[in-house]
Amino acid sequence: MNIVITCPQCGAEIDLEEEDTVFRCRYCGSTLKPTGRNQVQSFFISPRQIPQKVGKALVRALKARNPKQLHIAEHYLFYAPYWRVTGMIFQWLFGRKYFRTPDGDKSWKDLKKLRSTPWVHTFPAFDASRWGLFSLGLRAQALKICPFNKQEMGNDSLLVKQTISFREAADHAQRSITKQGSTGSLQVDMATSELVGERYSLLYFPFYYYTLKGNRQKTVLIVDALSHKVIKASVDIDELKTNSLGGKIPYKPLNFIPYNCPNCGWEFSFRPRTMIHFCKSCSRAWQEREGAYVPVSYKISLHDKPAKTHCKYLAFWRLTAVIKTPGREYKTLTDFYDLFPLPRVLDQEALKSRNISFYIPAFRIKNVIIVDKFAARLTQMQPKFTESEPDSVEELDLSDIWLPLKEAKEMAHVLLYSMTKETHKRTKEIVKKAELQFVDTTLLCLPFMEKGIYLREAQTDLALQKNALDLD
Ligand SMILES: [Zn+2]
Ligand SMILES: [Zn+2]
Repeated sequence: MNIVITCPQCGAEIDLEEEDTVFRCRYCGSTLKPTGRNQVQSFFISPRQIPQKVGKALVRALKARNPKQLHIAEHYLFYAPYWRVTGMIFQWLFGRKYFRTPDGDKSWKDLKKLRSTPWVHTFPAFDASRWGLFSLGLRAQALKICPFNKQEMGNDSLLVKQTISFREAADHAQRSITKQGSTGSLQVDMATSELVGERYSLLYFPFYYYTLKGNRQKTVLIVDALSHKVIKASVDIDELKTNSLGGKIPYKPLNFIPYNCPNCGWEFSFRPRTMIHFCKSCSRAWQEREGAYVPVSYKISLHDKPAKTHCKYLAFWRLTAVIKTPGREYKTLTDFYDLFPLPRVLDQEALKSRNISFYIPAFRIKNVIIVDKFAARLTQMQPKFTESEPDSVEELDLSDIWLPLKEAKEMAHVLLYSMTKETHKRTKEIVKKAELQFVDTTLLCLPFMEKGIYLREAQTDLALQKNALDLD
């Protein structure tokens, strides 16, 4: 889905890809950052055709069926708000898979399966009990949307009041993703679903309202102003006129800020898909929040320092957390390895004093299963990195950051399942009830050496297939 925006410098109309975090005008060359993309924003969709034309076609069609003296007595353009939620669903399923052995006996084996699918969902943000269009369906994907602007939507247009709050929309989304039962040969006995990277938008969708008169009869028709199909709906137009929102903006539409480091003024490198911007001049990192840049602290692992420039640095969120269950708190690495044992012998004394860290990839990924396996292994190793605040990032090849901290916390919960063996009954029972309490968070950039089709982390030597990542 593209966002149609007007270049604030030259006035040209430009399409911004939904995920883009930077905007460069094709006409005047200015580079700016659209704000608020990580918050709820309001958009509208322009109607196709003016109401008079649509109305005429409608009357013609009706007359063909029913040749009465029909005419349009009044018409209105109105918009109804829909929630649109997008994200990725991560779902772990644990259970049993039943099958038949070659000699015909019924048998089963423990099964553990990770699914990840992109998720797009639209639903009314108003009382839709008398409404025929419950979802904008797949076409919402192909539509162009514009930042909410009452003037562009039509000064006379009416707005249906939003009654489903953001909180309620988020609950609705959560309920929709957790529906997962057993199917066929698969019996699920433990599952978790997380919606990660979710983005909520309020989309104002256009409708035409017509009152048709003929032979002393009055008919009201509501037409989808995009497809021009009549939909089953009932609208109290007088109530709508009284309660219409007017020019008040429900959620801030997007705005622009300069694409420069707020500390030293240096222009950031043009990386349209990163959430966090590193300044090559003063080495600070920034994230946009509510229209301003806020600093993000990060560290660099110093292993293999002489080869620094030959490495690719991949960013991970390191979340230090306590695993809480109704019966026990898992705080130290001794507790951790009690849950997720390693085959090799560990220095028990050292483990007692160390906290539990989760390593969540913050870079963009293509193959979820491979990257998840890597993150689970890295987390199970609980490595101790020598790290420092960076003095210069000028020469560092840093990956784009796709996953914000809030989402990383959700992924840490998914990682608990990733580390659980399907045959390990006790751990399964504990993980099912576990919650995480985060005590510290750091963005940590780890150096990877390129070797054939792999990238190898310099200190742990853990390998990641290059084609599992989506690097630029
Ligand atoms: Zn421009
Ligand atoms: Zn700077």
